[in-house]
Amino acid sequence: MKKSRIALVAMLVALVAAFFAAGGHRYLTFESIKAQQAAIEAYHQAHPWRTASGYFLVYVAVTGLSLPGAAIMTLAGGAVFGLLWGTVIVSFASSIGATLAFLASRFLLRDWVQSRFGHNLRALNEGVAKEGAFYLFTLRLIPVVPFFAINLAMGLTPMRAWTFYWMSQVGMLAGTIVYVNAGTQLAAIESPSGILSPALIGAFLLLGFFPLIAKRIVDMVKARRVYAKWARPVRFDRNLVVIGAGSAGLVSAYIAAAVKAKVTLVEKHRMGGDCLNTGCVPSKALIRTTRLLAQIRRAPEFGIKSAHAEFDFADVMERVRRVVKTVEPHDSVERYTKLGVECLHGEARIASPWSVEVKTAAGMQTLTTRAIVIAAGGRPFVPPIPGIEDTGYLTSDTVWDLRELPPRLVVLGGGPIGSELAQCFARLGSRVTQVEMLARILIREDPEISQLVADRFQAEGIAVLTGHKAKSFGVENGEKVLIAEHDGKDVRIPFDQLLVAVGRVANTQGYGLEELGIPVTKARTVETDEYLRTIYPNITACGDVAGPYQFTHTAAHQAWYAAVNALFGGLKKFRADYSVIPWATFTDPEVARVGLNETEAKEKNVPYEVTTYGLDDLDRAIADEEAHGVVKVLTVPGKDRILGVTIVGEHAGDLIVEYIAAMRHGIGLNKILGTVHIYPTFAEANKYAAGAWKRAHAPEKLLKWVEKYHSWMRG
Ligand SMILES: Cc1cc2nc3c(=O)[nH]c(=O)nc-3n(C[C@H](O)[C@H](O)[C@H](O)COP(=O)(O)OP(=O)(O)OC[C@H]3O[C@@H](n4cnc5c(N)ncnc54)[C@H](O)[C@@H]3O)c2cc1C
Repeated sequence: MKKSRIALVAMLVALVAAFFAAGGHRYLTFESIKAQQAAIEAYHQAHPWRTASGYFLVYVAVTGLSLPGAAIMTLAGGAVFGLLWGTVIVSFASSIGATLAFLASRFLLRDWVQSRFGHNLRALNEGVAKEGAFYLFTLRLIPVVPFFAINLAMGLTPMRAWTFYWMSQVGMLAGTIVYVNAGTQLAAIESPSGILSPALIGAFLLLGFFPLIAKRIVDMVKARRVYAKWARPVRFDRNLVVIGAGSAGLVSAYIAAAVKAKVTLVEKHRMGGDCLNTGCVPSKALIRTTRLLAQIRRAPEFGIKSAHAEFDFADVMERVRRVVKTVEPHDSVERYTKLGVECLHGEARIASPWSVEVKTAAGMQTLTTRAIVIAAGGRPFVPPIPGIEDTGYLTSDTVWDLRELPPRLVVLGGGPIGSELAQCFARLGSRVTQVEMLARILIREDPEISQLVADRFQAEGIAVLTGHKAKSFGVENGEKVLIAEHDGKDVRIPFDQLLVAVGRVANTQGYGLEELGIPVTKARTVETDEYLRTIYPNITACGDVAGPYQFTHTAAHQAWYAAVNALFGGLKKFRADYSVIPWATFTDPEVARVGLNETEAKEKNVPYEVTTYGLDDLDRAIADEEAHGVVKVLTVPGKDRILGVTIVGEHAGDLIVEYIAAMRHGIGLNKILGTVHIYPTFAEANKYAAGAWKRAHAPEKLLKWVEKYHSWMRG
């Protein structure tokens, strides 16, 4: 504990001890105040200011130290100062005292509570940040909720001190007036318990819930206002229309059909969206072929004198197309029709909150619907760099049409898509230059993790140019050239083809969002609340169009919330849960992550411990000639609770699943260690990482005694 905290604890303990030693608890009783009333009033007559300031300070001290007696002091305030001045003095003294208790609790305990339980408290923290003032106001208005408990509990939340102060002062005012007023009749009161009659408590409860009820009404009025200018159909043809048949749209439609809703899925291009046609599936198919090529080149490492692969780039790309075709039926119109989804091929436009126009080959169709899910996905972002349109470029949308291998390929972008494709093309034989503006590739990962991948890239002949900002493209002597800026100097990079992979933007234009006034965020995704609802509660959004993640599994995860909240939000709605989101980059070595890494833990001020297990030690990795990489686990200091895991190496994307399940279900490293893992597998690495953590936390003192016991047993 820091010195300042120890000093504060010592001071608080000393003050509380002094209070009890001086018999404060005996003075602050109803009987004592009644008995002293005449004497106090006489003193007040003689010294009005001294009495008021003394009373004020004692009140602040009692409430600030969370001592018992605040209610009695309030009664005394009424008896001595009357209703008006009693209310003024008590109102300020109690609010200041409450804020001191709030600050003490925050200073002493908040960091500890948030670091230990912050993960579980996330929803509460977010709720307090958003609606905390309302809840505090409600609690303050209901005087049956203990005053000191509210002060101490609120100190542990992220609520601002100023918000706490003024909400407390306003919220406590009604209760203060009741008590001070009762105090003006002190002589007539027999016991403080009679002050709050059941009827008065009922009135306070009503008052307390009033702000929450008022907020709900305001929300309803706001929602009605956005709908006001639209004509609502008398009846609806459908319960749900889903726009876009990518990962998000397919799952939304499937869920709606599974709960027997009448649902129409509209797709303007290809069923399956990006993941099937231009994203996950073709990229993983290409990775498989290029991985085989890389392994053939490593034949001597496996005891094979020589091996040689002959291939045509066009055949490789045809295989990729074949894989897409093979997976296609999973996302097909036939399959979804069988599942109960009406599939329409055409371009959708939201015409009103309850109608969607679809431009099909047969003409325009208007669908009326109770709810809409926007799952319109995203597209590659092409930065407006001078000359880029003239020299031409490929993106993840068009690269799959290539049938001739580019001899020299520039990959612009060091993120997952750019990195996966850069390695594929290098392994196929292109001379690849990867250009990244930031200091390293895979910037979301910890620096040494990025470095492991960059080292492998360089070993495979990829020129990884980090800190290089693309300035312009042009043609010099018939050769395409990129001019990039590095350390203030221009670097000239000639190339034959350019692949742009600098990120993806959500599709938010041209299908009615503008006309409906549905806002987009700074990240240019559709703005939604935590239930994935747009400003129209019957219109939800999910997948790449909604962000913040851009993965197929997160699109599918969000789709459940989007569909359920769109269909049943009026009855019960569910907050999208992002507490455990994993991802993987399928480079070689693979990089997989769930939860926090070190960089993020530092940024968020989350205390952590790091345990690593090197895959170079793993029997199976050695047998497979893949003895490289690491399992890196972040845990709460002194505990086995997992904050996050990064794995680099063979099958990292599969290995991490054990940790995803552990984090999702609150399982710690001790339990992973206590689970039998099959020998010899890569999965054993997870257990060995848990073992490394356990060894670092061995109870050394206890073990010394056990050693003595064994030596005694030996005689
Ligand atoms: C090269 C690459 C590799 C990737 N690899 C992975 C990976 O390994 N793992 C992973 O999890 N993710 C990966 N992703 C990301 C993943 O593909 C996306 O996150 C996912 O496809 C998003 O799904 P979605 O449904 O939100 O959008 P999309 O798949 O883009 O689907 C949106 C659909 O909406 C349609 N649409 C848009 N507007 C309209 C309209 N007005 N009317 C009708 N239809 C409309 C579009 O035609 C499209 O089919 C990869 C992406 C790329 C580009």
